[in-house]
Amino acid sequence: MSSTAQHQAIYRRWRAQTFGQIVGQQAVVETLRNAVRSNRVSQGILFVGPRGTGKTSLARILAKAINCTDLRDGEPCDACPSCVAIREGRTLDLFEIDAASNRGIDAIRDLRERVHYPPGELARKVYILDEAHQITKDAWPVLLKTLEEPPDFVNFMFASTEPSGFPAPILSRLQRFDLRRLTVGEIGGKLKTILAADGRTAEPEAIDLIARLAAGGMRDAESMLDQLLGTDTGALTAEHVREVLGLVEEETVEAFLDALVRGEAVAGVELLDGLEERGRDLGAFTEQAIEGLRLALLASLGRGTPSGLASAGPGALAAAARRLASIDMAHPGAGGLRLQLELALLAPGGAAEVAAPAPARVERPAVRAPALAAAPSAPSASAAPSASASRLPSAPPAPAASAARSAPAVHSAPGEPSLSTAPGARSGPTLALLLERWAEIVEVISKSPPTRPLIVACRPVGVDGNVVTLGFPETQSFFKDVADRRRPILEDGVSRVLGVPVSVRCVAANVEVAPLPEDPDSARLLTEFKRIYGDDAVDVGDVG
Ligand SMILES: [Zn+2]
Repeated sequence: MSSTAQHQAIYRRWRAQTFGQIVGQQAVVETLRNAVRSNRVSQGILFVGPRGTGKTSLARILAKAINCTDLRDGEPCDACPSCVAIREGRTLDLFEIDAASNRGIDAIRDLRERVHYPPGELARKVYILDEAHQITKDAWPVLLKTLEEPPDFVNFMFASTEPSGFPAPILSRLQRFDLRRLTVGEIGGKLKTILAADGRTAEPEAIDLIARLAAGGMRDAESMLDQLLGTDTGALTAEHVREVLGLVEEETVEAFLDALVRGEAVAGVELLDGLEERGRDLGAFTEQAIEGLRLALLASLGRGTPSGLASAGPGALAAAARRLASIDMAHPGAGGLRLQLELALLAPGGAAEVAAPAPARVERPAVRAPALAAAPSAPSASAAPSASASRLPSAPPAPAASAARSAPAVHSAPGEPSLSTAPGARSGPTLALLLERWAEIVEVISKSPPTRPLIVACRPVGVDGNVVTLGFPETQSFFKDVADRRRPILEDGVSRVLGVPVSVRCVAANVEVAPLPEDPDSARLLTEFKRIYGDDAVDVGDVG
């Protein structure tokens, strides 16, 4: 047993066993503890959140809490026979079902017959259904029946990254808890604790790199740490992190960005040669470059750490950011990511034509383009003064800033017949049209003040017939739920601008949109960015 413990993955060894050990998610934890304290835990609970944010850990802790014989102010003791049996996974009254597996589907089928048997050892029987959005069509009715009249002694806990896959009658019977991505500080803090306990040391920069790469998921961070600690026995250095994870050192990223911003394509291409020779991952490099550019943009606004690039000016930085952001890393197409990066390197003026992707790209939102989160506002707005927009009789010049930022594909092909020229001639709207008119749509819908934060928080990610899909960042699925309730206002706004009736579907997606006004500063920042993109739009217009 001890030898397995030695090789046990960090994320298993360090899995939270009590509410107090959960990192972040304070609001959810507090609500759950209160429910435990007052003995009012719902029999149907749904944990929603990105991977690695603690959904199943919370479900297990809650299972302990409702069974613990030595409960302490809503916190399970983690020492009584019930707690220990759950922690060690050896009680027959806790069912952990992975809905994504075949065995999971069989288990759900069995559930109907067995759910009515009272627990054998614990006070309550608990079913934890992980990846629950993957539950098959024929299995849902079984669950619904059970959820409608659950035996007194049973609790159901669902965990899912995509609750949009749940049937509505199921959702309406579950109490929902939304977990957010963890911050770099939260992840870094736990990594430091783990390292200290293992007697290992690490450069702060190394920890920071891992925490950033994990993108809000503790489990990914812990897996990376595992991998890193297994390949080296000394102090963990940033250099080692980059080496093992295929990352590029900061200086090289900066040199590339310098070439990108200043239009020195040859220097940039040589850098790319070097990276490929050293076997660096261009995908990770592109993300690093986008992040670097974002920081430089902030620096040029007098925020964050000063950057040498900031001297290029916000306009040039924004133009470069837009060229990088238009790279669809999931589908780089012929020539791969390398070619896309080379195209981005070509001089800013020429970039619009050269980097124009095949028209098909237009239909495919660059859902990845991750780190532009803080370079929020929208390239699409720069299309406003272009020929394609003015050909539209009903299209007034769009305001300089819009929330749709995947739109460079739309405006980058000024010579082509615009995809949006004939909305009436098509059976329904296209994503390209939607992106092009997005600024207007935002403006129209913003006239209803309570709806404004919603339309600003999302962007169009798909069109199917007359159904328009709006994506909300997974981290803000709260907005998605509110938007769902105000769908009529959204539908009315979109329909009015496009001139065709549409229905709207709201989904949580892996999109990053403009920063929401969480603090007064971000509102100011947003204004600043609008100004930048506004200036920049003029530049592009002059060139074209
Ligand atoms: Zn206990």
